[in-house]
Amino acid sequence: MSGVDAAAKAAVPSLQGHKPLDVQGLLSSDRPLVEIYDLAVVDLDGVVYVGPDAVPGAAEAVARATGAGLRMCYLTNNASRTPDTVADHLRRLGVPASVDDVLTSAQVGAALLAERLPSGSRVLVVGGEGLERALTSAGLVPVTSVDDGPVAVAQGFHPDLTWRRIAEGTRAVRSGLLWLATNLDLTVPTPYGAAPGNGSLVGLISTATGRQPDLVAGKPSAEPFLDAVRRHHAAAPLAVGDRLDTDLQGGRAAGMPGLAVLSGVSGASDLIAALPDRRPTYLSADLSGLLDSHPEVRVGPGDPVQATCRTSHVAVDGGVLSVLAPGDNPVDLLRAACGAAWAWADAHPAPDGRPAAALQTQEVLAACRRFETAGAWAR
Ligand SMILES: [Mg+2]
Repeated sequence: MSGVDAAAKAAVPSLQGHKPLDVQGLLSSDRPLVEIYDLAVVDLDGVVYVGPDAVPGAAEAVARATGAGLRMCYLTNNASRTPDTVADHLRRLGVPASVDDVLTSAQVGAALLAERLPSGSRVLVVGGEGLERALTSAGLVPVTSVDDGPVAVAQGFHPDLTWRRIAEGTRAVRSGLLWLATNLDLTVPTPYGAAPGNGSLVGLISTATGRQPDLVAGKPSAEPFLDAVRRHHAAAPLAVGDRLDTDLQGGRAAGMPGLAVLSGVSGASDLIAALPDRRPTYLSADLSGLLDSHPEVRVGPGDPVQATCRTSHVAVDGGVLSVLAPGDNPVDLLRAACGAAWAWADAHPAPDGRPAAALQTQEVLAACRRFETAGAWAR
């Protein structure tokens, strides 16, 4: 059994026990990932699309992956859109998707409340249609006022949320009701830059009441990944995303190996500096990595630390990451750089127990940028 087969199998009992993934470094595989995993829990923005536009090649990669038997669960922290709306958006971009392929933090949150409340319980909604529909589908009754007799509060992002509804939520939270937040993302992207997200709006009620939410449904918690596995009856799930601090961290917390794609937020410097609980087990430029085999990263013993991936060869000496041979492609160079940097960081922890962050990485980043095929991720 190869290392990756063992990791895929190990993910099953660890999911049942909710234990974080215990895999260090990048995994290798002689076979394409679609042949090893049965469910990809895939982030959307920065992976399938960026804003309104598809990531180049994403639709074709998804079609080929699903054609090879891999099921997809598109997992989004955005609670304002319904699964129908998200599936429609994906199909407009040419990505084959049904409503059952989409899981929103509103659905995960509604399931968490439905586990704890009798069917038909009233829930005050500080949010919009996506959250109301999710609660209704879970057998709960969304209401808009404390005077309607709610037994819990559910709060999720919606762009038309009013001060009056936030004030009603404040009144309910202050009275001691169970308080669920769909996610704690401080910002949401807009064409004009970052704007307040659900975490910022939760902060308003938190500031006014002195309380924190009792339950948080979205990434980076493990719960949405575990929910995806339950809904799809998956035996060998893989987390896929562009953000180390949400997609990969949440997947690891749920016990899943993770594929980091370089088409979104996290770039080469983020990967090289990643803390152990946010590290992926695979790297690829984009979703085509699902269809590829993944080369081995060999990390040598001792100090200086040396690592190779195919023809790429790097070393860490005295806190400097240097390129001994750039090799044939920038992703292999980044794989080798992560192998060396992570081994070095784990051997040189800072006094507070976190890995040292003082590694100098400019030479590797510059070497990645010299490849014609390197994308904007070489930063
Ligand atoms: Mg993303």
